[in-house]
Amino acid sequence: MKLFTAVQILLAPLALGAAVTKVEKKVSYDGYRAFRISTHNDAAAVSKKIAGLDFVPFNLDTKDHMDLAVAPKDVATFEALGLETSILNKDLGADIAEEAKFAPYETTTIGTAAVPAISWFNSYHAYADHQTFLNDLQGAFPANSELISAGTSGGGRPLYGIHIWGSGGKGSKPAVYFHGTVHAREWISTMVVEYLTYQLLTQYSTNTTVKAIVDSYDFYILPIINPDGFVYTQTTNRLWRKNRLTRSGTSCVGTDMNRNWPYNWALTGGASTDPCSETYKGVAAGDTAEIRALVALTTTIRAAQGIKLFIDWHSYGQYILTPFGYSCTARPTNQARQTTLSSGLAARIALSYGTRFTYGPSCSTLYATTGSSPDYMHAVATAEFAWTIELRPSSGTSNGFVLAASSILPAAIEQWQGMLYLLPTM
Ligand SMILES: [Zn+2]
Repeated sequence: MKLFTAVQILLAPLALGAAVTKVEKKVSYDGYRAFRISTHNDAAAVSKKIAGLDFVPFNLDTKDHMDLAVAPKDVATFEALGLETSILNKDLGADIAEEAKFAPYETTTIGTAAVPAISWFNSYHAYADHQTFLNDLQGAFPANSELISAGTSGGGRPLYGIHIWGSGGKGSKPAVYFHGTVHAREWISTMVVEYLTYQLLTQYSTNTTVKAIVDSYDFYILPIINPDGFVYTQTTNRLWRKNRLTRSGTSCVGTDMNRNWPYNWALTGGASTDPCSETYKGVAAGDTAEIRALVALTTTIRAAQGIKLFIDWHSYGQYILTPFGYSCTARPTNQARQTTLSSGLAARIALSYGTRFTYGPSCSTLYATTGSSPDYMHAVATAEFAWTIELRPSSGTSNGFVLAASSILPAAIEQWQGMLYLLPTM
């Protein structure tokens, strides 16, 4: 297995007391070929066969299939193993290069207000442009929105977001609360969360359905809650997942923020205690700057208005996951309602392009997780509904985390249509 050990050059601190500046070489995936391997409920047997090869694993749910990218030097050996495979991606590096062709930031006017142009959703974007996007969008609708920040990341970046309200006035309705990009490499989640925000604001005054939705809830939307990790995917390693927290006693960097929420954090089996693991849970519950800040924001929203719906937007796999992750048998008291709504949401999503989403309780549908956001939001923050949505892609002909820019709009439109069902119905 390839570990993310890019060459690190330590530079002298620039000034007394300044943090050590590290310059890392960009990780190249040129010539990496991505495969989906059918595992038929025996992922261990597949893991044994490929153990000596240089590859990057993608997915954690390996009951049915394992997705990975194999280094160029080992592709021939891999193909000779006789595993049941399909090719996801012939050259991961080439697709990453294609994906990195960010379109210039443009604005347009709606009425008298200058807003980001819809062409924003034709490509992915640099971190700084994401901040500009939200600033400009909010600035065009000052009467019913304001910028918010939960605090700062471990690297000092803002955990920025937007609060949107309707005719009842600011802070008067139950909250709908969205987080995007907790896992750094899940770029489509940023774009989809921004699209939902864009539609809520730009259609409020012209679309009666949207007006009724915004008049019914206070929206709190944070498109990038792991900014340090996200920036790192753009500067250094496109496939980075965790935050960028360094800890004493290990050279491995990063904690999986979605295993760090303070609810049933100490249970075993749903996260890793190995700092080098992709699902490293941290040393203590909520011991990352980001989760501490987000817990504080969540507590404030809960106390002020209560949380009707929380969605943590991820990729990939096309799932709608309801609580709980920590147990495959525990169920929320409103399970029947959760099933009705998640099934209805999946049906509505499919209407746009036929994209199929699987729905069900997180642990029994996918795998066990401890310290995940939906468990915390439902059990501690008493959100009536607290879900994970794993966005595109799913099928064996797709690219995992590197989803082509041409799929951004379809991925976003089908979720918007889903929200036009869920929000008025729940
Ligand atoms: Zn994720």
